[in-house]
Amino acid sequence: MQHNLARARANAPGTRAWAVVKANAYGHGLEQALRGFAAADGMALVEVDYAVRLRELGWTGPVLLLEGWFDPADLDTMAQHRIGGAVHCFEQIAQLAAARPERAFDVHLKMNTGMNRLGFRPDQFHDAWQRLRAIPHVGEITLMTHFANADESHHPCLPVAEQIRRFEQGAAGLPGPRSLANSAGVFQMPKLADALASQWIRPGIMLYGGTPGGATAQEYGLLPAMTLESRLIGVQDIGAGEFVGYGSRFEAGGAMRIGAVACGYADGYPRHAPTGTPVLVDGVRTRTVGRVSMDMLMVDLTPVPQAGIGSRVVLWGQGLPVDEVATAAGTIGYELMCAVAPRVRLLADDGAVAPSI
Ligand SMILES: *Cc1c(COP(=O)(O)O)cnc(C)c1O
Repeated sequence: MQHNLARARANAPGTRAWAVVKANAYGHGLEQALRGFAAADGMALVEVDYAVRLRELGWTGPVLLLEGWFDPADLDTMAQHRIGGAVHCFEQIAQLAAARPERAFDVHLKMNTGMNRLGFRPDQFHDAWQRLRAIPHVGEITLMTHFANADESHHPCLPVAEQIRRFEQGAAGLPGPRSLANSAGVFQMPKLADALASQWIRPGIMLYGGTPGGATAQEYGLLPAMTLESRLIGVQDIGAGEFVGYGSRFEAGGAMRIGAVACGYADGYPRHAPTGTPVLVDGVRTRTVGRVSMDMLMVDLTPVPQAGIGSRVVLWGQGLPVDEVATAAGTIGYELMCAVAPRVRLLADDGAVAPSI
């Protein structure tokens, strides 16, 4: 985590970095993330209860709720714990104006520059800013937007450069820091340096060693923060014409050894990962066979004849980039990391059991 944060900073010199720790730090555990990202300038997330948890864990720096609040009742909690929030619609401005929080609020005013999820349209942005500025308990206003396609610099539908153009047009003349780049944006920084200079960046996935697409973690110079591992708990010798698992989706073409790994979709391993998804057994790359079940998945032991019960199995992480597994399973590393289930024990670097949140 420290390495990856330093990597983000190196790509975006002169900026301040929010470490994005939503979804329990993309499945890594908030407490672990707080240690790893101690050098970040702020912590950004989505869940107000986890934001309060950051305060309880001793984080005194800025905290930002990336989607604002979901319930006006949260405004008191936010004021009490100095938690800032994104403001993306006029309803929120009305809620803020009606609130009587004990302290001023810092906000991120969000512009919709074409992604069409949250935010004010560029031509509403000045109006929204002025209404916010008129609320006495609104503190600093940072101007933000979010990129749809920063992992592809020349996207045919909505290139990053077009989103930046709309942002600059909508925000022209307004004071305050800017916050634009997610991980994919951070990797575009050398090209976008002018537009993004002296701003906040909001890297998430890259801090955990996953990529937003575009290149491999190795090419980006990232290290995996998470290794999902288990062990072989069973071995079977099967012959030609025998089937493996639910639905008998895999048929052995000849004699082979297969191993049962104690990891299934109830642990967060994707059920839709097909036969052939890469996996490491005793450090040797092999493949899954048959359907992933709730608590187990099966692997081909042909390339690892010495493997047996107790052999270490890496599902992703050290030696097997999460992005490769995600690609094989038709998804993205983000989803795999976030889906790691509560029953999976989190271990710290020294092997000690770490808090799950
Ligand atoms: C999740 C999120 C990020 C981080 O995105 P990555 O692709 O993981 O870097 C940045 N900004 C906002 C608003 C987000 O919701």
